[in-house]
Amino acid sequence: MVFLLHIAIARPKVVINGPLKSPSGHALAKANKFDIRHLKIKIIPVSDEPIIDLQSDHYFMGEALRQAFRAYEAEEVPIGAVVVREGRIIGRASNQVETLKDATAHAEMLALTQAESAVGDWRLTDCTLYVTKEPCPMCAGAIVHVRLARVVFGVGDPKAGAAGGALNLLQFPTLNHQCDITRGVREQECMSLLQMFFVEQRAKAKLRSQGGE
Ligand SMILES: [Zn+2]
Repeated sequence: MVFLLHIAIARPKVVINGPLKSPSGHALAKANKFDIRHLKIKIIPVSDEPIIDLQSDHYFMGEALRQAFRAYEAEEVPIGAVVVREGRIIGRASNQVETLKDATAHAEMLALTQAESAVGDWRLTDCTLYVTKEPCPMCAGAIVHVRLARVVFGVGDPKAGAAGGALNLLQFPTLNHQCDITRGVREQECMSLLQMFFVEQRAKAKLRSQGGE
């Protein structure tokens, strides 16, 4: 187990004024009237898994959220996805089930198809999929078929998610491919958009039923 030290400085703020003769902590402290008692030290345990660039994950999930918002505007369930290869987006899509009258037109499926066209191959072994909600079994199946390296999702789906929520097809031992999973990136934003959509849909349905009475 490795530990990261997360240090937050309360007061006074440490400002380094010009080069110091001695780089020692004591000299630094003296030069800046630095007092160890003002340090808040929090120990955060981290696993031995490889370090992931969380900044990039945050950015690309933002692009997936942009797609989810497009779905929201089109009155589709607001889910968005992007496929990234070598730091570039090669597929991006929003959920279009209602628009296309196609139950398979999930954001992930459409983004994967775009990515396959961009690569010129059905294998997406060096790609990462960012999706605002945990993939369903259909999309997880497609993700395994294209041999995607990694899946990053925002909000989990304990009832129907196939990336560890209800079941885990992405790391199913007898299938011929398993991918890495990162959960909970920008979870709150992904969830808020979905909640807002369903609250509005329920309100609209109520209005319609009242109008019909
Ligand atoms: Zn799906």
